[in-house]
Amino acid sequence: MAAPSPYTAAVEMGYALLAACTPYNAWAHFQELQKNQWLSPEDARALRWARLQAILRHSRENIAFYRQLWQAHGVDPRRFDSEKDLVDLPVVTKQLLSEAQRNNLFLLSRRRDYQFAHTSGTTGQRFRVPFTLAGFQKKYANHLRQMYASGWRLGMKSATIHYSGHNQFRGAYSGRAEDEEPFARVRETALSIAHRRRVLTPYHQPETGDDPQVKAWYEQLRDYRPYLLETMDYNLPLLKEYIERNGLPRLSIPKTFVLGTHSEALLARLEEFFSTEIYDRYSPHEIEGVAYACSVRRGMHIAIDCYHTEFLDEHDRPVAPEETGTIVVTDLDNDLMPLIRYRLGDVGHALAEPCSCGRGFPLMGQIDGRVRDLLDLRSGKKVAPARIADVLQDEPAVHLFQVVQYGDGAIVAHVVPCGGTLPVAVSERILVRLTNLLGPAERISVTPARHIRLEPNGKCSFVKKADPDTRAALPRRSGG
Ligand SMILES: [Zn+2]
Repeated sequence: MAAPSPYTAAVEMGYALLAACTPYNAWAHFQELQKNQWLSPEDARALRWARLQAILRHSRENIAFYRQLWQAHGVDPRRFDSEKDLVDLPVVTKQLLSEAQRNNLFLLSRRRDYQFAHTSGTTGQRFRVPFTLAGFQKKYANHLRQMYASGWRLGMKSATIHYSGHNQFRGAYSGRAEDEEPFARVRETALSIAHRRRVLTPYHQPETGDDPQVKAWYEQLRDYRPYLLETMDYNLPLLKEYIERNGLPRLSIPKTFVLGTHSEALLARLEEFFSTEIYDRYSPHEIEGVAYACSVRRGMHIAIDCYHTEFLDEHDRPVAPEETGTIVVTDLDNDLMPLIRYRLGDVGHALAEPCSCGRGFPLMGQIDGRVRDLLDLRSGKKVAPARIADVLQDEPAVHLFQVVQYGDGAIVAHVVPCGGTLPVAVSERILVRLTNLLGPAERISVTPARHIRLEPNGKCSFVKKADPDTRAALPRRSGG
């Protein structure tokens, strides 16, 4: 690693000082996490098992919610021999946890030393997870680890383009006045001074295509020249299209974290266009840093020192590596409101092969989408959103798109083409590939669109299932 700039050295020293003298000890946790990732796979798993036993013991002894739940299911984690036995514990949902919170089963009413983090609400229900300052320092350390894995360090310039419903905007665009971040003032100070983070105004129109916003991003990124950009999956294509259409000089951004998934072909096009390396991470709001890409950028390392991550079938049994399953995570740190086998609402898959970088943590692939957006086929099979998105993202002529399965089962690919017209050959190729993927029995159509409507929280769903009572509006070209 090259010698750090004086700014980086000063900030890192400042963080070390804070950790030594104050409760803001994220840097000490970070040092430990940095070491953990280089443990051998066996030692990393042993660490996870020791930590799993500790959180299970704590939850059984001190948390009424889990004690009652596990008793009702007739399981006693004291009898477990390894993490494989965890499958005997019931999976918990946001709904179940929210209800337990309302019934004070985590005894939060006895404490004053916590603040809430809201989930983003993309998977349907929003819910709140409490953090003490100590717990929050651990989450922040996890955040730092995933950022450092890209080559970025504290003190290097960064910029973000979040979704408009992000808690940090406190409802300014979403109208959700209750939105907040835990320990917001400390967080914002750290981000602006130590991360040198510029927060760009998020896209906040109901549909894509708002040039003044994209123009402002372009100018700010051009002038500020961040080393690292964090952004939503649909923002980079918006920016690329704006630059191309106006014949502007390209931007060069060394590292980019994209929140969302991209096909390999689209990744390659974006990396080339922005002269950047794109990093992936899986970091839901309430459980920061579940998995993160290293410089090899083949999948993401699962942080097994802080979380136990499972991929499960419809009976909540583990699926094999490379097979897609719903993601269930146990947080090994949060003892205030433990999340034990917590269903996130996303689907993903573990990779079978280890990484060549030498980190001992196993790999998972990019997230395959949200459980509620799995498309239902007539055969009874379900298809992960990412498999469908791949088909459209592979096409350079496609600017943005949204594939919707309507309540009557019809599947419509709404495609915003680059340059305004969707070539017939492209449209037909998409239809053929979607038909091959989903089968000839499905009603599939491809139709040009001018805009994509964003979700209420400001995210763009590339593939989604519409409400059950919706019907597709007259497909133009039908398959099957
Ligand atoms: Zn690696």
